[in-house]
Amino acid sequence: MKRHRCPERYAEHVEHPRYGKAPHVTGVDPNPDDPAVHLHWNTRYLTEAQLRRIERTTGWHPVFPNDGTRMVPGTAVAADVSRQTPATVAITHYYDIDKVCRDCRRRFIFFAQEQKHWYEDLGFPLEADAVRCPPCRKRMQDIGRARKRYEQLSHVASRSFEETLEMAGSCLMLIEAAVFHQRQTEHVRTLLKRVPEEAKGDRRVAEITARLMTVEAEARKRGPK
Ligand SMILES: [Zn+2]
Repeated sequence: MKRHRCPERYAEHVEHPRYGKAPHVTGVDPNPDDPAVHLHWNTRYLTEAQLRRIERTTGWHPVFPNDGTRMVPGTAVAADVSRQTPATVAITHYYDIDKVCRDCRRRFIFFAQEQKHWYEDLGFPLEADAVRCPPCRKRMQDIGRARKRYEQLSHVASRSFEETLEMAGSCLMLIEAAVFHQRQTEHVRTLLKRVPEEAKGDRRVAEITARLMTVEAEARKRGPK
């Protein structure tokens, strides 16, 4: 793998923990007009014949909004078609795709190697697309986990200190992520009050209290709702 010719162009891109920021140059560029070549529609480099083939097999006619997505030439990686989840048109090559994150609006690369991993190792359908950058994706997963954990803990009749703390932390995170309403801060306070006296000095209690105060201060700044 060669380094990209001008990695500085990607200096502001969001970093992927495994693949980095800049595209991975392979020097491979299959001819998209070759009938044996089928690129993923995320390259947006489709011939009329390929568009028709997608429409015929999936009933979907791709229309791409101008959202800043572009493929990076010279970054193709050959696919192992036999490992892809069938039922769609097989993809013969993946490309590094330069995209804008739906949440934070920063640019990131959806790497060809990452697509290979998604579609061949993890068994994701080819329709699965990365719409968020890695940290925003992680954040979505954390929110999902916090929701689930909060829900589980709310059914526990007598919670241990650890569980109470975890529930308060989950609730607070969901308020910070605007999943829960601001009013739920009172619930976090109630949970913290249930922390036994000898545990009040716990570092995590102090951390949650500090975050809670920040959230409440921001709410006061915004005024009553
Ligand atoms: Zn993002």
